[in-house]
Amino acid sequence: AVLHDPDAIRTNAGDPYSVYSYYWKKWTDRAKGDPAPAPADEGLADEATLSAAVDALGDGAAADGGEATAEAPAEAVDAAVGHLPTLDDLGFAEPDAEIGSAGTEAARERLDEFLDEAVFAYEAERDYPAREATSRLSTFLKYGEIGVREAYAATEEAMAEAESDARPEDAPEQVEEFQQQLAWREFYTQVLFHNPEVVTANYKEYEVGIEWRDDPEEIAAWKRGETGYPIVDAGMRQLREEAFMHNRVRMIVASFLTKDLLADWRHGYDHFREKLADHDTANDNGGWQWAASTGTDAQPYFRIFNPMTQGERYDPDAEYIKEHVPELRGLDADLIHEWHELSPTQRANAAPKYPAPIVDHSERREEALAMYKRARGEDPDE
Ligand SMILES: Cc1cc2nc3c(=O)[nH]c(=O)nc-3n(C[C@H](O)[C@H](O)[C@H](O)COP(=O)(O)OP(=O)(O)OC[C@H]3O[C@@H](n4cnc5c(N)ncnc54)[C@H](O)[C@@H]3O)c2cc1C
Repeated sequence: AVLHDPDAIRTNAGDPYSVYSYYWKKWTDRAKGDPAPAPADEGLADEATLSAAVDALGDGAAADGGEATAEAPAEAVDAAVGHLPTLDDLGFAEPDAEIGSAGTEAARERLDEFLDEAVFAYEAERDYPAREATSRLSTFLKYGEIGVREAYAATEEAMAEAESDARPEDAPEQVEEFQQQLAWREFYTQVLFHNPEVVTANYKEYEVGIEWRDDPEEIAAWKRGETGYPIVDAGMRQLREEAFMHNRVRMIVASFLTKDLLADWRHGYDHFREKLADHDTANDNGGWQWAASTGTDAQPYFRIFNPMTQGERYDPDAEYIKEHVPELRGLDADLIHEWHELSPTQRANAAPKYPAPIVDHSERREEALAMYKRARGEDPDE
C-alpha cells in the first residue's frame, strides 16, 4: 500500500516524475489519508480456537523434547483452523537465514521502538551499519503487516515532539529524513507503475549499450561474500544470514558488482530477489538501477564508490565487518581497512583464511569509466 496512488502525483505538465526531489516536494505537501480501520474478522478462526490450537502445538512440542514438528499438534492445528500449507507444499525450501518476528504486533512494536528515540538522530546515524539507527520496517511494509498510513501518522506525532523544546534543534530534519525514505518507496513504486519494462530493461538506455564483463567466477565470489573487500563481504554475508542488508551496504555491494566487477545489475537484482526478506520489485529495481547508473535519478556513471574508503568511513571500528566476517575478528580496524594494500605475506599472517582482493579497485574503476564512455558513444581515451 502507498500513501499516494502511483498515478496521483504528476508534474505540472502531467507527466510522471523522474526526479525524486521534485516528486518529494509534492508528496510531502499532499494531505495524507488516515490509517484504515482494522478489518472485520468474519470468516477467521476466533481467538479461543486459535489459542487452543497453539496450546496443542506447545504440548506436542514439549512432549517431543522441544521439537515443534510432531504429528499430533499439526493435526490439532488442522482440526482447529483447517490445513495450513507447509513451505514444502508451496514449493519453497526452508530458509537458511534467521528471520525476525513477523506480524502486525511485531511491526507496531518495531515502529514504536524506533520512533521513541532513534528517529530523532536518523539522518545523522542512518549510514552506519553497526548502529541500530534505521527502522527495520521494510519487510513489515512490504507484506502489509503494518500500513504505511499508520507508520506515517506515527511519524507526524514524532515530528510534533521533534518541534517541541524536548528535542534538539535539528530533530525535525532527522524525522523528515525518515519521512523522505517513505517517499522514496512511493517514488520507485510510481516509476515501476509507469515503466513496467524496468524489471528487466534499463530505465535509461545508453546510445551504444553497456558491454558488461559478466565474469561468472567473480559474480559467484561476490554472492558468497569472498571478494577480499571486507565491507562488501560483510554485506553479502549479512544478506545470507539475515535475509537483510543495511541500506548503505546495499549501495556499496551494488556499486561493487556493477562498477568493480563490471557485472550487469540484473545478476545482483536476481540474487537480492532470491535472498532479501524485504524484496520489493520497485525498490529493489530502483536501488539496482540507481547503483548501475541506468535508472531514473540515478548515480552518475562516473561516481564510483571506493569500497575501502566506504568501509573506513561508515564502519570505522570495523564492528559491522567483524560481526559478519569472523576471519577478520582478531584484527585491528586499521589493518582491515588497509586489506587491499597489504602484501601476501602480511595477509597470510594477519588472517590466513580471508581472501586477497579478487580485483584491483583502481584498475577496475578505469575500466568501468571506459565501459560507460563506450556505451555513451564516447571515446574512452578522452
Ligand atoms: C541495491 C538496493 C536494493 C534495494 N532493495 C530493496 C528492496 O528489495 N526492498 C526494500 O524495501 N528496499 C530496498 N532497498 C532500499 C533500502 O535499502 C531498504 O528499504 C532499507 O535498507 C530497509 O531498511 P529499514 O527498514 O531499516 O529502512 P529505513 O531507513 O528505516 O527506511 C524506512 C522505510 O523506507 C523505505 N525505504 C528506505 N530506503 C529506501 C530506498 N532507497 N528506496 C525505496 N524505499 C526505501 C523502506 O520501506 C524502509 O523500510 C534497496 C536499496 C538498494 C541500494
